[in-house]
Amino acid sequence: MNGTAQTVIVVGSGPTGLLLAGDLAAAGVPVTLVEKRPHKISNLSRAFVVHARTLEQLDARGLADEIDARGQKLDRLRLFEGLTIDLSALPSRFNHLLVLPQFEVEKALERRAIDAGVSFSYETEVTGLIQGTDGVTLQVRRGGGESQEMSAAYVVGADGMRSAVREAVGLPFPGRSVIRSVVLADVRLAETPENVLTVNTAGDAFAFIAPFGDGYYRVIGWNRAHDVPDSEPLDLDEIKEIARLALGRDFGMHDARWMSRFHSDERQAPHYRVGRVLLAGDAAHVHTPAGGQGMNTGLQDAANLGWKLAAVLNGRASEGLLETYEAERHPVGKAVLRSSGGLVRLAMAKRPWTLAARAGLTAFLARVRPARDRAVGQITGIGFRYPAPKGSHRLVGTRVPDVALDGGSRLYEALRAGEFMLILPQGDTYKSDAVRVAHWASGRRTALLVRPDGYAAWAADEVAEGGVKSTDFPRDFAGYSLR
Ligand SMILES: Cc1cc2nc3c(=O)[nH]c(=O)nc-3n(C[C@H](O)[C@H](O)[C@H](O)COP(=O)(O)OP(=O)(O)OC[C@H]3O[C@@H](n4cnc5c(N)ncnc54)[C@H](O)[C@@H]3O)c2cc1C
Repeated sequence: MNGTAQTVIVVGSGPTGLLLAGDLAAAGVPVTLVEKRPHKISNLSRAFVVHARTLEQLDARGLADEIDARGQKLDRLRLFEGLTIDLSALPSRFNHLLVLPQFEVEKALERRAIDAGVSFSYETEVTGLIQGTDGVTLQVRRGGGESQEMSAAYVVGADGMRSAVREAVGLPFPGRSVIRSVVLADVRLAETPENVLTVNTAGDAFAFIAPFGDGYYRVIGWNRAHDVPDSEPLDLDEIKEIARLALGRDFGMHDARWMSRFHSDERQAPHYRVGRVLLAGDAAHVHTPAGGQGMNTGLQDAANLGWKLAAVLNGRASEGLLETYEAERHPVGKAVLRSSGGLVRLAMAKRPWTLAARAGLTAFLARVRPARDRAVGQITGIGFRYPAPKGSHRLVGTRVPDVALDGGSRLYEALRAGEFMLILPQGDTYKSDAVRVAHWASGRRTALLVRPDGYAAWAADEVAEGGVKSTDFPRDFAGYSLR
């Protein structure tokens, strides 16, 4: 394993792998991104929705303004008939949902990864791996040729739902297919839809239309009454028929450049780490496209893992810090599985009791503000909090919003350095090379230690006489050296 002591191989150059590799390289970790496809970001990619918490993470990497300007902003999200959530009051700089094809996000992340020094190995397919005590050896096939080996100190499988890395470490992917025979097409429309997103469910049919921005639209449709295997041939007439059933018209769809039939699974790996191998994104969890959560959840996995792995490899944290990755992200993956599956079941409700449950939930959310805020927090990602050690301050584990800092800066600009930030009341000081210090722009008296991924690590309502000391920080913060 000589020469691999500090290196990481990230498998898969989807959004999860690109963000993670960029973060590791930006932190000075030598990283290779291994991808089985040739170098080409496909414009047939899948996700269309970028949520507020993802935009905040992109902001912490200096990418959000450019990405936000490229898409179309929506301040309302219709989940199903009778349930629309208002995002305009979201406590975020990004109080909207961004409609933008996944390949635009991938392009920006790829550029950042290249600039940060990630080494790319395309047409390299991982076929197996062996773990040793101080590293991992991957078996790869380059350009379809002979099997070769690549070694690194850690390997991250961001290789999608059929993850070869997950299989190689023997992790199962339990779950089931939730919806079969979903149809996808990229088409031109003779009639322009009134709204940016067009979506509806009627009877057995569901349809969704979103613009690519290049004259084409993505259509997703599902007709429960026509449940056929993925291998069944598909033509535009079938897609138009679903649109007419769900939306009342087919907008004159024509010139399909791509069509596909797929099924949607709900699955989650029981663990996100086996020794020196970690899983992130679709390799760790998949769910229905409802609520547009897949890419967003994968990007949050990467944002959680990147700084931890870099800290371990840069000698600033013990390996124990990596345990917090699964402890924090597995419950989030589970919650997303539940909510996106629940949305599909409610949207497609047909039986009297499911219709009654949907009506009850809609009325409840309309009436009860905290429940509505919770649902919005979960869908947009800003409401997730991570487990905090017993006796911690109430803020520990929560997402820190983009607060204004003294001197005209703001937190997510400051987080671009990839370091912990200690925000202090004006006039207070703290000396350490490991922590960057800023002061509230307001007269707030709290002292707050913010992790590189924008979550609170420690807080105190008042700074004790003598100022904040390193010994104030929790000892059990998995060995992270903040001194
Ligand atoms: C119809 C549809 C609509 C969706 N809409 C949304 C949405 O609106 N919002 C949202 O957030 N999500 C959405 N998703 C989900 C989203 O597209 C995925 O969650 C996202 O692409 C996952 O990213 P990833 O990087 O984890 O994996 P992937 O994007 O799957 O990338 C994995 C990469 O690994 C590579 N790879 C695989 N195996 C190997 C191997 N053995 N060796 C080397 N490389 C390998 C693959 O070629 C690929 O490039 C949607 C999905 C679908 C199907």
